[in-house]
Amino acid sequence: MPKESVCTLKCKKCGCDYALKDLLLAATDYWEHVEVVMSETPCCHARVELQLSTGHIMVGRVYVAGAPQFRIDERYDAPIHVRTKQDELLVKIGDKEYRIGAKG
Ligand SMILES: [Zn+2]
Repeated sequence: MPKESVCTLKCKKCGCDYALKDLLLAATDYWEHVEVVMSETPCCHARVELQLSTGHIMVGRVYVAGAPQFRIDERYDAPIHVRTKQDELLVKIGDKEYRIGAKG
């Protein structure tokens, strides 16, 4: 399996495949509190909420039960490296690093 395909996700709305990096580039917000990245798909602008950790992508939804929490719907293995730096999330895919910051 080519390495790149592991970093591909399928759009739940229209069924298109898209690259994780496109989702990171389109990120609209980062909720430090729950470590959730808000973004939209490049194909049809469907809203996506995801948590990233080294080796894993978790797609789900933020919900509020007292405090905001994240419910994981899907979990994928991915060759990514993730770290946080102050209020930013740094995601490394191959030799490229993407920064996602809180937009206030
Ligand atoms: Zn789509």
